[in-house]
Formats: sequence, C-alpha cells, structure tokens
Amino acid sequence: MTAHPTVRLKAREGRRIRAGAPWAFSNEVEMSNATKALAPGTVVNVAGDDGQVYGTGYFNPGSLIGIRLLGSRADIVPDEAFFAARLARAKDLRDALYPRPFYRLVHAEGDFLPGLTIDRFGDCCVVQITTAGMEALQKPLLAALDAVVSPEIVILRADTPARALEGLDSYVRAARGETSRIAVEENGIRYFADLAGGQKTGWYYDQRDNRAFMASVARDKTVLDAFCYTGGFALAAAKGGAREVIGLDSSAPALALAEDSAAANGVSALCKFVKADIFEEFERLGNAKETFDIVIADPPPFVKSRKDLEVGAKAYRKLARLGTRLVAPNGFLFLASCSHNIAPDRFAQECALGIGRSERRARLIRQTGAGPDHPVHPMLPESAYLKALVFALD
Ligand code: SAH
Repeated sequence: MTAHPTVRLKAREGRRIRAGAPWAFSNEVEMSNATKALAPGTVVNVAGDDGQVYGTGYFNPGSLIGIRLLGSRADIVPDEAFFAARLARAKDLRDALYPRPFYRLVHAEGDFLPGLTIDRFGDCCVVQITTAGMEALQKPLLAALDAVVSPEIVILRADTPARALEGLDSYVRAARGETSRIAVEENGIRYFADLAGGQKTGWYYDQRDNRAFMASVARDKTVLDAFCYTGGFALAAAKGGAREVIGLDSSAPALALAEDSAAANGVSALCKFVKADIFEEFERLGNAKETFDIVIADPPPFVKSRKDLEVGAKAYRKLARLGTRLVAPNGFLFLASCSHNIAPDRFAQECALGIGRSERRARLIRQTGAGPDHPVHPMLPESAYLKALVFALD
C-alpha cells in the first residue's frame, strides 16, 4: 500500500488543528509545488512543519477550509470498511435515541465525516455531499451505506450552494430507486416531504424537539407558524390540541404539502396555510391588531456569510419586534436562527432588543438548539448552527 502524500502546515500555523479541531485553513498550509499540484479532494497526511502528524484528511487548495480531517492517524484508507464503521457508529447513536428510523443519520464533522450529511426517512436516505474530498469518496461511501442501512431509495442532493466554493457542480439524482413524496414520522405525527424537490434534504429534523415543546404548550391556543415550510410546527401544535393554527410561507409547493399533511392527520379543520411574505404579513397583522397565543418564527438563514452579520442581525431584531406585536397577553414567542454565522449570544441579544422595543415584559424560558441527531464536534462550535429561544410575554 502506498502512503498518502503529505501536506505540511506553515511554521507556527495550525492553532485550531493542534487544539483538536478537524480543520486547517488554506492560508495555514505550506503551498509547495507538490502540494499545489494536488487535485482538489486528494486524501493526504497532514503534518506540522516540525513533522508532527495531525492525521489523515482531504485537501482542497481552492477552498477556504483547505484540509478536513478524517481521523487522527496517518495513512487512514477511506474505503468501504472505513465508512461502514463510521456509519455504524452514527446509526447506533440514532437508534438509541429514537424508536423509529427517521432521523439525521450523519451530521458531517459532528459524526467525524466532514462534507457529508445524510437524512434517513425509513427505507429512504438523502445524501448531501458538500466538499470535493467527500465527492471523490462517493463510491465507497454509498457501498457502505448499502451495507449498514440497506435503503431502498437513495437520493443524492448535490445542490447546496457550498459546493460551488469547492469547485463542484450541482445536481439532484436518485442513486437507487426513485421518489418524490414520502412520509416522515416525527413525534408520533406523519408528515409529507418532497425529498428531491423540497428545500435542503426535504425535511428539517433539527427542530424535532422544539416542535414537541411548542406542541406541549399549544392546548386550546391559537397559533401562528411563520416560515412554516411543510407544516412542521403547525401540525405539531394542531395535534397538541391547538384551537386554530395559521401557517405562513412564501413557497406554494411547501404549503401544499403542509395542507396534505394536515388532512392526513385529521386536523384540516383547524389549520389554514397561506402564501405570504412574513415581513409584510407581520406588518399587516400588527396594524390590524390581530394577536395569537403562540407565535413561531423559524426563518431561513439571514446571515449567510460573515459579511452579512450586521444586516442579518437587524433582520432578526426586526422579526422579533414585529412578532412581539402579534403575541396575545400571556402568550409565547418562539424565535429561531439557523445561521452558522451568528453566535448564540448575539442572536439572543437581537431578539431581546426587538422585543424590548415593544415595552412588553418578557421572560426567556427556553434556549435550545438542534436535536441530538445533530451532534456537535466539541472543537467546532460553529457546527451548533441552530439557536432557538422561547419567550413568555406578559
Ligand atoms: N419551520 C419550518 C422550516 C422553515 S425553513 C419547519 O419546521 O420545517 C424557512 C422557510 O422560510 C422556507 O419554507 C421558505 O420558503 C420560507 N421563507 C423564506 N423567506 C420567506 C419570506 N420572506 N416570507 C415567507 N416565507 C419565507
């Protein structure tokens, strides 16, 4: 067996990787001629300028994150057996957490598989590869997925914007079987999702526990679910005994799935799904002095990159301000951010400032993130991207 080529870090660089993080940035890498000549995604051994080995990773000279580690030994071979072992660890954890096979099976670095996300919907898996290194390993990965999970349907959602940063093309195709709409089981509710045509992998498992919590306070309440997508929170609230639920979203296909899910769960009579722009609709409802016992706002990421931080932070503040006006006395306001690029304390501060503009008294009663099928690498706090806050308003 031939050894992997070695990529070295510059002298005194690699602060994060030395501390145990699974990344090194491109500007930390010594760009020798041999290193420059490596194809994007090449599997390499990673060493410091003093020869200290940090492990095996894959390298992309064109990406800001130049190296992502696969493990802390040199010459790890990322073959089918390697992937099968990692997938089995990932699967064991989820099977310990959930009674049914509906979960995020792989959460990238959080499961020591950088550049890879897999969501599982029973017999169907949706695979998202975001790096050149993982794309080059697709074959052994899919063989291992077959061995460990034996899905009947495998959809490759290779259409995330992050792929362009890695020099990858964008495509969606079935590697096995075919599907459009499937059932998702979550918190005892059956939802519909469109795995090939929907957003991201078709379903947002990250909010599972937060949906359950909001459902637990929804009995006899009126609920406004803003950015409802396919009705995750809305149906949870309806099944939790809400009196009336309105879901708002700008995506007509997502709303159609939400309506079908409501019908399948026997709660159509309580649920109304409306196509609207949230900021406009919140202004309109506020001006009309309409209120709801529970207002949920789970928007798309407003801070897509670090340079958007100030503009995005203002959008979170505005959403909190407009949302507060719609909460009835003694009601709840749920606010979430799925932006990697805003830290939890900054997000909480913007929400507090937005609520504060209303002169309503608020108590922060719950601060959470994604569910446990989204593990966080301990040295990579950015992988805890989801922030969710629940306020009780006087
Ligand atoms: N809460 C959902 C996930 C929301 S994802 C769940 O539990 O599954 C964000 C959603 O916001 C998407 O469905 C997208 O269509 C919608 N969206 C984005 N911008 C919007 C806007 N300005 N007005 C209304 N909906 C918007």
